[in-house]
Amino acid sequence: MHKILDVIVIGGGQSGLACGYYLRRHKLNFLILDKEEKCGGAWLHAWNSLTLFSPAEHSSLPGWLMPKSENLFPLKQEVIDYLCQYEKRYELPIERSITVENITSENKVFKVYTNKGIYFSKAVIAAAGTWNNPYIPKIKGRETFKGIQIHSANYKNSEEFRNLKVLVVGEGNSGAQIVAEVSKVTTVKWSTRKPPQYLPDEVDGFYLFNVATAKYNAEKEGKPFNAANYDLGNIVMVPPVKEARSRGVLISSGSFESMYENGVIWSDGTKEDFDAIIWCTGFGYDIFFEKHCFSRRTRHCKNRRKQSN
Ligand SMILES: Cc1cc2nc3c(=O)[nH]c(=O)nc-3n(C[C@H](O)[C@H](O)[C@H](O)COP(=O)(O)OP(=O)(O)OC[C@H]3O[C@@H](n4cnc5c(N)ncnc54)[C@H](O)[C@@H]3O)c2cc1C
Repeated sequence: MHKILDVIVIGGGQSGLACGYYLRRHKLNFLILDKEEKCGGAWLHAWNSLTLFSPAEHSSLPGWLMPKSENLFPLKQEVIDYLCQYEKRYELPIERSITVENITSENKVFKVYTNKGIYFSKAVIAAAGTWNNPYIPKIKGRETFKGIQIHSANYKNSEEFRNLKVLVVGEGNSGAQIVAEVSKVTTVKWSTRKPPQYLPDEVDGFYLFNVATAKYNAEKEGKPFNAANYDLGNIVMVPPVKEARSRGVLISSGSFESMYENGVIWSDGTKEDFDAIIWCTGFGYDIFFEKHCFSRRTRHCKNRRKQSN
């Protein structure tokens, strides 16, 4: 007879750990399956200079405050350390290097197929994030471009772009932060479909989380919500972005229609050569869940908009 768990959580990033905390409090029999070898979720793959949007005291998972950082906004490695300590502190049952490949359900039991065997549970939580599914728009001629092309999911630092002519594509936070960093070592142009929109300087992640929580609560109660004119998707003015603004490098060149072997063709028909293109064009949900949407009870399927960080 196989063992049937109460819950299997797919993904051991920050969402999976937060779920684990509550599952433990409710004394449920559960397991978190994560395909990474190490703790840290998507933060393991983020670029080296990425920081949180909000100070440590406003970035905590349930139960345990994130330790204070010497930096106003905690660094990537501090976030990873916190996540690693969090799972130890709550002795969360996590099995690593396990990739969930398929899920079926029969007689109210889920059969979770992985690269290391099959697990059974009464419920499944999809906390697999988006990092595994970087999105690049379909652009005519993209396949003919002979230069370097990477997605922000694979960007680590500006060094490999030193002295190259670089185009950064995308008007979100990733685009702004990568323009800020790469423009320190070389010539960068920034392509955006619409003019980049910035949050006021004083608005950080703490404010955004409060607004998002108030919005969620209002929607739950069916009440109207006015987010005080702040679009939560606008660029957060973290210190490197402010510094780039003061250097005058946050200037959009607009959008391009197509590409050719050496570069892009701008909307007005002008051709421009580039050595490298960095796509900061967001993520789709994990391909696996996109394909399966395996249960009526899965919220994952309800909102499959692209994420644009
Ligand atoms: C510029 C920028 C700034 C950001 N700032 C902040 C911020 O200030 N605060 C903040 O909270 N977030 C911030 N983020 C976002 C943050 O990095 C992610 O939103 C967060 O990591 C998502 O957590 P998650 O647990 O949902 O997913 P993830 O961290 O992606 O974790 C999912 C886990 O599931 C695993 N997995 C995926 N598929 C499978 C499978 N089939 N089987 C088994 N395991 C699987 C993955 O390997 C991963 O370990 C920022 C991101 C960017 C780009």
